Amino acid sequence: MQVTAMDIYRLLPQTNCEICGEASCMAFATKLSEKDTQLELCTELEDDQLEKLESLLAPAVRQITFGIGDKTATLGGDEVLYRYELTYYNQTPLVIDVSDNMDDTAFQDRVKSIEEAEFERTGEKLTLDAIALRNVSGSAEQFAEVAGKLKKSKLPLVLCSMDSEAMKAALEVVGDERPLIYAATENNLEDMANLAIQYECPITIFVNNDLEKMKELSRILRAKGIKDIVLDPSTFVGDGIGDTIDNFVMIRRLAVEENDEDFRFPIMGVPAITWLYENDDVQGGIKEATIAATLMNKYADILIVHGTNIWELIPMLTLRQSIYTDPRKPQAVDPGLYEFGEVDENSPVLLTTNFALTYYTVEGDLKSGKANCYLLVLDTEGRAVDVSIAGNQFNGKSVTDLIKDSKIEDKVKTRTLVVPGLAAPVSGEIEDESGWEVLVGPRDSSAVSDFLLKLKNKV
Ligand code: SF4
Repeated sequence: MQVTAMDIYRLLPQTNCEICGEASCMAFATKLSEKDTQLELCTELEDDQLEKLESLLAPAVRQITFGIGDKTATLGGDEVLYRYELTYYNQTPLVIDVSDNMDDTAFQDRVKSIEEAEFERTGEKLTLDAIALRNVSGSAEQFAEVAGKLKKSKLPLVLCSMDSEAMKAALEVVGDERPLIYAATENNLEDMANLAIQYECPITIFVNNDLEKMKELSRILRAKGIKDIVLDPSTFVGDGIGDTIDNFVMIRRLAVEENDEDFRFPIMGVPAITWLYENDDVQGGIKEATIAATLMNKYADILIVHGTNIWELIPMLTLRQSIYTDPRKPQAVDPGLYEFGEVDENSPVLLTTNFALTYYTVEGDLKSGKANCYLLVLDTEGRAVDVSIAGNQFNGKSVTDLIKDSKIEDKVKTRTLVVPGLAAPVSGEIEDESGWEVLVGPRDSSAVSDFLLKLKNKV
């Protein structure tokens, strides 16, 4: 159940002393309920109040971090089943596997490509998050030796072996970097648990499609005092994907709706399993990306993936970016005046809104079309053109204020403004308020460069 500001307020000292930086305890409680501040900022709490608040504020799904320093990945922390009920926290780390039997050149090349993979979308650089080292060689020494090579990597590590001796050998080398242990099973539980305790590492439980067993193993680990647990109920590809989704949904429901302590942990999906059944680079990549996207939509808090082709990674990275934007806060860019290409006093002036997706689409189209123009970006509180017209953020007065505040009239001789096609309903209003002539441009910004060219030729 979602914790309300009032639930939190009841446990605060209610003195409104302002030490936390808020004007009142209620304001602090409101921010805490929205995860916009930290409990530690209230220094006036008695021990028992602190304990109760910590328990109350613990998310339904435990937040876990592996790695150390700048080399970390964080997963879990979610409170709700559906994103629109609040938001999702900590975007799903995408972890790419490497094997301990690769030749050194191929190994170094693959690590480099994982570290350097990057795709920019709506002003954000989308990257991969961690490396999973698989003990394919079957040798504990080799596993430990290759794990040692990854100390130089800038990404945190998941150590993958069901052999506790191999895990022990690798942890002797990289245990101080707090890798995620993968995995404890029914057969190695005791030994893996001892390693997790000794090296203070988070640990993954793997069971094969059996949530009763998962619960039993989770309870044993918790009884040993292990708090950082990740759950892998098996990823099946092909017809088995239905079982995988059922298990993921069941685990998350048990955590969020039933408050079942044994399941209040992040879930791991392993789309890399695809490659056990698929050798073709293209078919395998498409299948793996599809499974990764499906699981990400159904509560996967961390994914281990094999493919590194950018065309396979882009759908995962963009879907992740979309899922993990906060639905309460529209994505926005700074409003104001932007310049594209070579501008002078004769350059055309365009208008758009500060909704990030709109802005970056327009920006991309203007750049690729090599347009030379000014772009006025209206503060619509991150809303798109049609939505902000309906919400009255995009109107004659707001556009006129932007024209004045941006001082565009000092930069250009023209008094003609090109507005988006969807802004046609307010074009007259803008003309009346601003005194500028308004030209209604295309509805799709991909046609803007052509529109500007025609405009120039007309002049
Ligand atoms: S520091 Fe604590 S007691 Fe003081 S106003 Fe903030 S929440 Fe209230």
